[in-house]
Amino acid sequence: MTKLTDFGQTIIALATALGTGSIAVVRLSGKEARHIVNQNFVGTDITRAKPNTIHYGSIVDDRIVIDEVLVSIFQEPNSYTGENVVEISCHANPIIIDRIISRMIRSGASHAKPGEFTLRAFINGKIDLAQAEAVASLISAKSASGLSQAINQLQGGLSDKINRLRMTIVDLVSLMEIDLDFSEENIEIAAPEKLVEDFQDLISETNHLIESYNYAKLFDGSLKIALIGPPNAGKSTLLNSFLGEERAITSERPGTTRDTIHENILIDNTWIKLVDTAGLRDTRNRLELEGINRAHAQVSESDLVLYVVDLTATFSAREKQYIQNTLNGIKQNIIVVGNKIDIATNKHTLSFITSLGFPVAEISARNKTGLTQLKKQIMDIIASGFETFKDETVITSLRHRDILSRVKENLYRAKKMVENNTGFECIAIDLRAALDHLGEITGETVADDILNRIFSGFCIGK
Ligand code: GDP
Repeated sequence: MTKLTDFGQTIIALATALGTGSIAVVRLSGKEARHIVNQNFVGTDITRAKPNTIHYGSIVDDRIVIDEVLVSIFQEPNSYTGENVVEISCHANPIIIDRIISRMIRSGASHAKPGEFTLRAFINGKIDLAQAEAVASLISAKSASGLSQAINQLQGGLSDKINRLRMTIVDLVSLMEIDLDFSEENIEIAAPEKLVEDFQDLISETNHLIESYNYAKLFDGSLKIALIGPPNAGKSTLLNSFLGEERAITSERPGTTRDTIHENILIDNTWIKLVDTAGLRDTRNRLELEGINRAHAQVSESDLVLYVVDLTATFSAREKQYIQNTLNGIKQNIIVVGNKIDIATNKHTLSFITSLGFPVAEISARNKTGLTQLKKQIMDIIASGFETFKDETVITSLRHRDILSRVKENLYRAKKMVENNTGFECIAIDLRAALDHLGEITGETVADDILNRIFSGFCIGK
């Protein structure tokens, strides 16, 4: 396998987004960073500059000025990577950036691999692995809460939780080891009932963290709301109103939205996937039935269902029964949305939908009346599902969730063994495995190929 990073090389990459703009930052990290820049810099001698200082000058190529820049100097170990770092703030023109990077490469720097700056920070002990992963989450966070979770993780919130779990397990392993030492003398150090209790606490704590992964949906843009209901109720119009543009084609003829349409909408700083589905009705038409099957599949994957009903419509007893059966067959939270209040509504239909026992919203999708209230209802229901995890450090990565599931299995087996009076030597094997797994989150016991996979998911320059 290739080396994760070659510390002999001074790496360089654009640290800001590529494109034209006001300024861009090109970053170098490694032993020779200052020396390489200095060879191409007209201004002060930055090899002699004090750390944490900024210098004005020009980057030149064969005495031809490429750009006027500001150069920031950081000295090891007090930098992002823990190495000598130079950041060149230049004008954000891709041609300038390319010229500066090429010039530095000719002077001895080499192109950074994706995530290599953060990888170096991790290997140099500036941050642990959970914190390094937080850098990626921070950059890709899709909501305000996503950002604050990533910052919490970057500041070590998750690492603290994981380290506390580790310490508790370490204490239990040592207790069991002492117990083994004294077993000849018939002195009981670790009472089995107490151990079972301790393991149960650890299992609950681990489980809570695992479940907190669902909360991440609130800020990674994966929350899903399915729009369902009879054809012509106004589902596509509602989707368009949420979007503020004509995305789904609306039609007077029932049964036109045959396929599902996904759109991302922003409610209350939260990105939500809104899925418009084929209309649900009792039908024998094969194409329409296929659409209905897809709608049901979308419902089962969603976090909330908006069941849209045309309040001007009159439903037969059979149609009412169909609606009732459909709603009762849904496990997800439901809001019944009565639409078209801009024209005379059918009182019987309104009282029918209120009698169904679900929260009701009355709107006009066409005129956008009642949408603010509907959005509030949506967010209240979603937030209530995540109430327990509010203000807590939560798991935001699938990798962490999978590791914690393995830890939970180890703890569960350990608990079972204590209950079955298995020797402490065997139990310790599972506990050590649990410790190793936890170390994979913070990075103490993680294999190089996993590190490679994590950091290759970063962008270049991070
Ligand atoms: P879908 O089959 O449930 O997706 O329904 P559409 O969104 O295609 O709407 C069906 C018809 O109802 C279209 O002619 C829409 O213009 C109309 N419609 C939708 N919402 C409203 C509304 O709030 N008020 C009125 N008056 N008409 C609406």
